[in-house]
Amino acid sequence: MSETTIENLVIIGSGPAGYTAAIYAARANLKPVVFEGYQMGGIPGGQLMTTTEVENYPGFPDGITGPELMDRMKAQAVRWGAELYTEDVTSVDLRQRPFTVRSDERELKTHSIVIATGATAKRLNLPHEEDFWNSGMSACAICDGAAPQFRNVELAVIGGGDTAAEEAVFLTKYGTHVHLLVRRDQMRASKTMQDRVLNHPKITVHWNTQATDVYGENGKLQGVNLINSQTQETGTLAVQGLFYAIGHTPNTQIFQGQIDLDEVGYVKTHQGSVETSVEGVYAVGDVQDHEFRQAVTAAGTGCMGAMLAERWLSEKGLTTEFHQEEQRAEVTETEPEEAVDPAEVYDINNTRHRGSYALRKLYHESDRLLIVKYVAPTCGPCHILKGIFDQVIDEYEGRVHYVEIDIEEDSEIAEAAGVIGTPTIQLFKEKAKVAEYKGVKQKSEYRQGIDEHLGSTASVS
Ligand SMILES: Cc1cc2nc3c(=O)[nH]c(=O)nc-3n(C[C@H](O)[C@H](O)[C@H](O)COP(=O)(O)OP(=O)(O)OC[C@H]3O[C@@H](n4cnc5c(N)ncnc54)[C@H](O)[C@@H]3O)c2cc1C
Repeated sequence: MSETTIENLVIIGSGPAGYTAAIYAARANLKPVVFEGYQMGGIPGGQLMTTTEVENYPGFPDGITGPELMDRMKAQAVRWGAELYTEDVTSVDLRQRPFTVRSDERELKTHSIVIATGATAKRLNLPHEEDFWNSGMSACAICDGAAPQFRNVELAVIGGGDTAAEEAVFLTKYGTHVHLLVRRDQMRASKTMQDRVLNHPKITVHWNTQATDVYGENGKLQGVNLINSQTQETGTLAVQGLFYAIGHTPNTQIFQGQIDLDEVGYVKTHQGSVETSVEGVYAVGDVQDHEFRQAVTAAGTGCMGAMLAERWLSEKGLTTEFHQEEQRAEVTETEPEEAVDPAEVYDINNTRHRGSYALRKLYHESDRLLIVKYVAPTCGPCHILKGIFDQVIDEYEGRVHYVEIDIEEDSEIAEAAGVIGTPTIQLFKEKAKVAEYKGVKQKSEYRQGIDEHLGSTASVS
């Protein structure tokens, strides 16, 4: 595409709102460009990538996992010709038409924009929070709850909404007991979720309770300091894991000063519409919704944004129509894996391996750089990382050994490796750990780390 091309529509964000806008705009022959995001405001696929079962999205009577639902929405957008970039938008210029949208990789001109950047989990910023962040504290129980350090220990969740309730129930699978710390004398969660929490034998709700700090030793969380907001009584609660579920901040930093936002930072939209203060710019999903914040409402407003953009482009005579072939859509189906004897399939000449048997063998026998990726089946970011990291490994075929470890299947080895959340990638050279990456990073960061340590390792032929 030439640099002078002006896009019909750029969609920023790839949650239910962004993908739905993409499906509608693509079917209207607008060939929308979607910036899926990467790190700045959450992961591609949005918030549902961090959840397990979605039971209330219409059309899935038996429920569907968040990552699978988002995979399907993405596939549908691709099928109709949306152009996707897994990049963060770093700045926009809405002062001049056509608008400018920039990422680290490209700069596009566009007549219209749909903002679908959603919201990011809030943190309390307690005095010692940084000392234990990602090593005992997390804002995503669904992503990190299965890590070995949270098994068979007491855990706490802070929050009183649906997310807090869901996370508390989820954590009962791993912790001995879960404490739910609720700031007020009641919860905001739906009645059904409240009932599940209040009737759960492994959950204790602490009302009127606020965390004032966290404490621990040698980087290990040991507990949380509390204050009762009614009696002012202070105390401590010994827990080895603490999860925040205290709401979200709308991802609108890049629009500040260029579009009307409310005092919290949500994009202001016209009553009953998704039009913003700038003509041709629409805000959809959680970035403009502090009331409903559901996948289906995000998808609904995504549809509205695309239809209004189409209508506006047509009224202004700005539309360039693209008639194109349907694309092949790919949905990753999770096939049940057949049980195989790891000793039978193990071959040191292969680059890719799976499971603790291969890891133990390679740890002792490999003279290549050994790359270990720890994942959990419920972890949405792991799902995102799969495609990204597979491409990186392809580039080093025959020069590295790569092992994927499912921390649910191989919890002992994950514990021995000090893995406290997923995804985690560790690099080993001559039995020594030389690098570690937590969460999802840019491909270039992985390449840089691998290149740095690849140098002197010989290859096994
Ligand atoms: C744990 C949990 C469980 C939930 N369960 C349910 C449920 O069961 N049912 C339900 O209906 N809802 C559920 N929700 C709520 C639901 O996930 C949200 O309402 C919905 O995801 C909002 O969709 P969205 O598209 O507006 O934004 P999000 O899903 O937040 O997506 C925002 C997107 O914008 C991208 N982005 C942000 N900044 C940029 C940038 N600068 N450049 C490019 N891209 C950017 C992000 O990468 C992301 O892709 C749950 C939420 C959570 C956290």
